[in-house]
Amino acid sequence: MTSRFATHEHHEFLEAAHEALGSPNLQLALSRLGETLAAGNRSAFERLPGSSLLRDRARAIKDETLAHLDEHIEQLERAVTARGGHVHFASDGADAVAIVREIIRQAGASRVVKSKSMVTEEIHLNQALEEAGVEVTETDFGEFIIQVAGERPSHIVGPALHKTAEEMAVCLNERFNENLTKEPHVMAQFARGHLRRKFAAADVGITGGNFLVAETGTVVIISNEGNARLTTSVPRIMISIVGIEKLIPRFADLPIFLKVLARAATGQKMSIYTSLVTGPRQPGEADGPEETHLVLLDNGRSRILGSPMRESLFCIRCGACLNICPVYRKIGGHAYGGTYSGPIGAVITPLFDGHAQNHHQPHASSLCGACQAACPVKIQIPELLVRNRAAQHDEHVTPRGEEFIYRIWNRVLQSPFWYRVLTRTTSRLMSWLAKDGWVKRLPGPLAGWTSCRDFPAPAKKSFRDQWREESGR
Ligand code: SF4
Repeated sequence: MTSRFATHEHHEFLEAAHEALGSPNLQLALSRLGETLAAGNRSAFERLPGSSLLRDRARAIKDETLAHLDEHIEQLERAVTARGGHVHFASDGADAVAIVREIIRQAGASRVVKSKSMVTEEIHLNQALEEAGVEVTETDFGEFIIQVAGERPSHIVGPALHKTAEEMAVCLNERFNENLTKEPHVMAQFARGHLRRKFAAADVGITGGNFLVAETGTVVIISNEGNARLTTSVPRIMISIVGIEKLIPRFADLPIFLKVLARAATGQKMSIYTSLVTGPRQPGEADGPEETHLVLLDNGRSRILGSPMRESLFCIRCGACLNICPVYRKIGGHAYGGTYSGPIGAVITPLFDGHAQNHHQPHASSLCGACQAACPVKIQIPELLVRNRAAQHDEHVTPRGEEFIYRIWNRVLQSPFWYRVLTRTTSRLMSWLAKDGWVKRLPGPLAGWTSCRDFPAPAKKSFRDQWREESGR
């Protein structure tokens, strides 16, 4: 039963990937990633002296924080409440949604503005609030576009990255009956006017959080558009929903993460806006919310914390592994089917939502290691992907046919005799199929290999034969 389901999902992924490969607009949008975000990441770290050591330090802080996460959470709670803020604990997405809905209900609020937050995508917050009659407006430009288009984000940092400027203009014109051109400043000017009115009318601002400083109880929100600053300062009530892995112990740790996050995400030295919110507005302060709520989301994270996949919680959601990944750069984010895409999505989505439902994701990688090299906290993503594949095997999620083939292969590798028989037979068959040094079409289930590239013909003499001749043994 499980296998059948997994196989079905696998085919859905393949269909979505093929569709993505056949979309000229998507291919055009994705083709820009290499020379923009990915190149920015590389050159920003090259220009920063000692950047490797800085990344090691960021990684070590994450590691150390997770080792004592319970203590840091308690410290954070004390610091937030001492400043007059409220802390809520949500064990899963449904819990978090119920908490947010209740805060909004008690406040008698009906209009919400939001800054960009992957965690709210993870728990499907917008849908739940809209079902409760609350008007939700996304205020990050990319999120605003995809909300208008009724789509999901396709990238952690650039949610509308799959859209060309022309498509964005069409989307805004259709929804608001405008006649905007595709120039970025024209669309930005329109969004600015529209969103300012939404900010002014909102009762509640909802944010995620890039970091939570345990020592001071500070929620750190980074943006390049200033919308997070307005979300945290204009509405009367501020709600931040943040995964528990976002804690850092000390305020002094923050500059390290600000340096690596901006460089990894966009190649900037610093993001344009860094908002630090430590509880509600205090007497004598000029702005800030009257009431602040921090919803700490577990949603499977403490389970991951105690598992061999713990390292995936180091992620600071910079998107660098997506920008460099040869698979993501061809199929985009939607083909992955979950909230998180690309290499880190292929690691964490099966952990959050189950291996059976996400069988395809850990296999959507050539394990080339480019993601690990780009990651600002040096997460060993290829290793984690292989562990996910092993977990699929242990949970019998791997399709039966595939499992059978690997079992045979395992036996063959353990037997020199059968290895020799198999390689010789395969080599003869391949030579028979080859023409001018290449095999143009492989038979049966192997046909996928040659559907878009040729396979080199085997060497006339195998390595083992050559070795025997050379060594005289
Ligand atoms: S895994 Fe690393 S590179 Fe990928 S989003 Fe997370 S921090 Fe960034």
